[in-house]
Amino acid sequence: MLEIKNIKYSYSTNYQALKGVSLKVKKGEIVAILGKNGAGKSTLFLHLNGIYKPDEGQVIIDGEELKYDKKSLLKFRQKVGIVFQNPDDQIFAPTVEEDVAFGPLNLGLPMEEVQDRVEEALVRVGMSGYEKIAPHHLSGGQKKRVAIAGILAMKPEIMVLDEPTSGLDPQGVVGLSKLLKELNDEGITIIISTHDVDLVPNYAQRLFVLDDGLLIGEGTPKEIFAKPEILEQANLKVPIVTEIFQKLEKEGFDMEGDYPLTVDEAKDKFLKLLSKN
Ligand code: ADP
Ligand code: MG
Repeated sequence: MLEIKNIKYSYSTNYQALKGVSLKVKKGEIVAILGKNGAGKSTLFLHLNGIYKPDEGQVIIDGEELKYDKKSLLKFRQKVGIVFQNPDDQIFAPTVEEDVAFGPLNLGLPMEEVQDRVEEALVRVGMSGYEKIAPHHLSGGQKKRVAIAGILAMKPEIMVLDEPTSGLDPQGVVGLSKLLKELNDEGITIIISTHDVDLVPNYAQRLFVLDDGLLIGEGTPKEIFAKPEILEQANLKVPIVTEIFQKLEKEGFDMEGDYPLTVDEAKDKFLKLLSKN
């Protein structure tokens, strides 16, 4: 389990980016952090494996408080892998395979194991065949997938992904949500930030809404997307699917207080409405 207790962080004396954030993520969960640009999502994520040290508050992983000496950081970074928002902050090796191999090599794994992990990670993100390519020749979306492979190859217990779907094409986004679900089925805890309200209910079990350095909402997708004040404050909207059913309700269809969030839920609701009429 990962717990954050009342974290405060300022980049400068006159601006506090995190104003006291507390949250808990259970082992095996997929949670998403939503919030407008500048809300503090990336700042929060950079605390999760000690890249940033909070001015106040603690990060606790499996009951152990994160410490900031080299040895502790190494240990925690094996547990918690972060995929940065901008892949250019993450990728620096001359070729894709060297980049993905960097983390596992640093863990001191034998060469054969490293090669297996690199291969498997590249297959999983759909980038096998690009091993010898220089990362700077890749598109933004491809770089993002390589960055994800680099973290996958470390086999972390908790994966933190900062806006992993931004810059991916539609198929890439669907592929990534599938991958997140698969990884979660294998036992990896997943924390992501995203603006993609349409897909988030397909994979996230709980949502946190961050605004101006404070959490303003926490709950299941059903709970959060039923709170217009929170959505408004955080510049979010309900999934398109939900919007359709809200409009149908205005036309007189009875939703019985249950609005679909995903395409599958929408299909079931349509069938139900059709069978009634
Ligand atoms: P988000 O990821 O939700 O878009 P960020 O965590 O990147 O938000 O930013 C939160 C706030 O902190 C913003 O006001 C942003 O301008 C500020 N900020 C982020 N990074 C830096 C930095 N390196 N130096 C100074 N201010 C920063
Ligand atoms: Mg960000």
